Amino acid sequence: MKRVAASLVACLVLAACGGSSFEQPEPVAPDRAGLSEETLARQLAEAIAYPTIAKAGEPGHNAEVFAQFQAFLAREYPRVFEQLDVTDLGHGTLWFTLEGSDASLDPAVLIAHQDVVPVEPGTEGGWTYPAFDGVIADGYVWGRGAIDMKGHLVTLLAAMESLLEDGFAPQRTIHIGLGADEEVAGIGAGLMASWLEERGRRAWFVLDEGGSLVLDMPLTGRPTALIAVGEKGYLTVEVTARARGGHSSSPPQRTAVGLLARAITAIEDHPFEMSLEGGPVDEMLVALAPDMEGLQGFAASNPGLFGALIVDAMKDEDAPRAMLGTTIAPTVIEGGIVENVLPQHATALINLRLHPRTSTEDALAHLREAVAGLDGVTIKPHAPGSEAPPVAAMEGRAWEIVAGAAAAFAPEGTPVAPSLLVAGTDSRFFAGVADNIYRYSPARIEMEDLSRIHGTDERMKISNLPVMADYFRTVMVEAGTSGAE
Ligand SMILES: [Zn+2]
Repeated sequence: MKRVAASLVACLVLAACGGSSFEQPEPVAPDRAGLSEETLARQLAEAIAYPTIAKAGEPGHNAEVFAQFQAFLAREYPRVFEQLDVTDLGHGTLWFTLEGSDASLDPAVLIAHQDVVPVEPGTEGGWTYPAFDGVIADGYVWGRGAIDMKGHLVTLLAAMESLLEDGFAPQRTIHIGLGADEEVAGIGAGLMASWLEERGRRAWFVLDEGGSLVLDMPLTGRPTALIAVGEKGYLTVEVTARARGGHSSSPPQRTAVGLLARAITAIEDHPFEMSLEGGPVDEMLVALAPDMEGLQGFAASNPGLFGALIVDAMKDEDAPRAMLGTTIAPTVIEGGIVENVLPQHATALINLRLHPRTSTEDALAHLREAVAGLDGVTIKPHAPGSEAPPVAAMEGRAWEIVAGAAAAFAPEGTPVAPSLLVAGTDSRFFAGVADNIYRYSPARIEMEDLSRIHGTDERMKISNLPVMADYFRTVMVEAGTSGAE
């Protein structure tokens, strides 16, 4: 008994010293523009009415619609378009510069994408209001892009417009970047990053979409300001199985199709490590712990001590598991042309989402190890992958601004929690030119509404819009007036 107690004390001391620590950010003073819900809702509704759908592999697709959308933005936010330096980087990408008085300070970069995904054919009838009508009803603005991400885009521009109206002249340069192909390629975001790189500049921080104020956070059921400090990398591999061809009446023991099936099974049976290492999940748990019940809360507040138990509990469910490691999803399979001919090869595509601790090279090596015993199976990248960007700092002045403003615009007592975005955003293209990448908008959204993104009946609560504008305004004021660290 004594020994157990002693070791528990030792563990707790260890957890306190060596375990993860995370401190809630101090709320910064909110800087409010006082914009009306009506004006912002109308702007978002009009923005939705431009069906800015990009198409993979066709950079000029819908160029006319994007041009009209940009003309609309220039009418709504005249100061932004007249007083800031506006550069057309190509591919529909707009890059705004508000030059600061101190050129030695690294710029703050706030980005948003103009493009939206199309409505899946056949699902149009499921929408309460047509996806591209931009209807204001029942306290919401309805339509494709309401959350992803024209709500973010118009409130960001409205915030800058209001600052310019007040004569805002920052010390630190502020850029706003509006890409036009996030959903299909991210060429625009790459052009923005190149613009900085060519000038030998680094962004102090980049703020993009990817986190919000989730009202019913799954682990706690309570509101949480979820700031994504990391996101996953991406790699699709092609698995090919080769075997003898010929007549199917005298087959070899393993045909190419059978061999491919074995290869896929071998890969699924050789999962990547699931752990709290190298990602922000342990800090997230520490942040959420006070809102979690009993033992669960105690374990979450001590991830250094109970890491293995937490990982075991999380990895049974798909969404939490995706935050703990690199995931494997066989998505496409092809092989054989007719039933009585032995195929000489069969292929499968497997989509991997890379945890920040797994590089594309590590991932390939891991998969090749899984199929090492299968003669005739080869694995290669289907297309160049993208590495997960580094996890951003959860301390320091840039974090204090982004997270402190999140705290300032959250309901009293709401925890700010860092998280790992399991999807990808435009911001990943800044990995080489930015010190920190954060993904957040203070929109208060239920999980159910988040599931409408890319789906049916996407909508944004009108009451979110002034809060979002004020959040972006506060971040830009704080960044603009913060000197060197
Ligand atoms: Zn998006």
